[in-house]
Amino acid sequence: MAHPSIVILTGAGISAESGLGTFRDEGGLWAQHRIEDVATPEGFARNPQLVVDFYNARRAQAATATPNAGHVALARLQAEHQGDVTLVTQNVDDLHEKAGSSDVIHMHGALNSALCRACDHRWPAPLEMRVGGVCPSCAAPRARPDIVWFGEIPYHMERIERALAAADIFAAIGTSGNVYPAAGFVQMATHIGAKTVEMNLDPGETVALFEDTRPGKASQTVPAWVDEILG
Ligand code: NAD
Ligand code: ZN
Repeated sequence: MAHPSIVILTGAGISAESGLGTFRDEGGLWAQHRIEDVATPEGFARNPQLVVDFYNARRAQAATATPNAGHVALARLQAEHQGDVTLVTQNVDDLHEKAGSSDVIHMHGALNSALCRACDHRWPAPLEMRVGGVCPSCAAPRARPDIVWFGEIPYHMERIERALAAADIFAAIGTSGNVYPAAGFVQMATHIGAKTVEMNLDPGETVALFEDTRPGKASQTVPAWVDEILG
């Protein structure tokens, strides 16, 4: 195929070598908190200060992080590949953008965005959000981090499903395959006959569903894969 359509899904693993901890990293920010407390609407209702502080810390960390060779290779693929390249990420950091990617689909939201719980308006989050932050559109004191928490519906699902339905190649990078619906993308891609490839340090939960698996660090596996595609 001359110009295959490519859909890429990235997870926390692609940002690990940039110093941002994954879910499972021992001693990382995630390990110090229970997911129910910091990544659910119920946790936010119980203790908004804890949740806002948690994302403020992650935002501060992401602000100083720099992209690694994995992010850079994907930006190059977007720039140089003749066919469609749809880049979907579960990450809330902006390392794809810092590497030069454009039109990144943040299905789980973004640290640098704030959301109004009253009117759904979005605006650039300050480095330090605060509980009761005021919405610049409707003035309600109901700002929250623009993050998709467990139990909430991921963003841009229609667009992602459209891209998957037209994919010739589906690649999952640095994602454990634990969190649905993203973990189901490989099945959708397989169903329509796309080639599937997984690039992970440790095999993900859904590794058996991939045709091609490439264990290793994203900073090495991703540039090698991009070189192959670009020929
Ligand atoms: P996960 O933590 O569940 O899994 C990370 C995966 O990356 C693992 O399979 C691991 O083997 C792999 N990995 C670790 N280091 C790697 C490396 N150097 N190269 C390649 N692979 C590596 O992450 P997930 O599947 O993305 O799910 C976690 C959820 O948590 C997502 O919903 C996401 O929104 C959120 N999260 C985001 C960030 C971020 O934005 N950087 C960080 C942590 C968690
Ligand atoms: Zn508002």
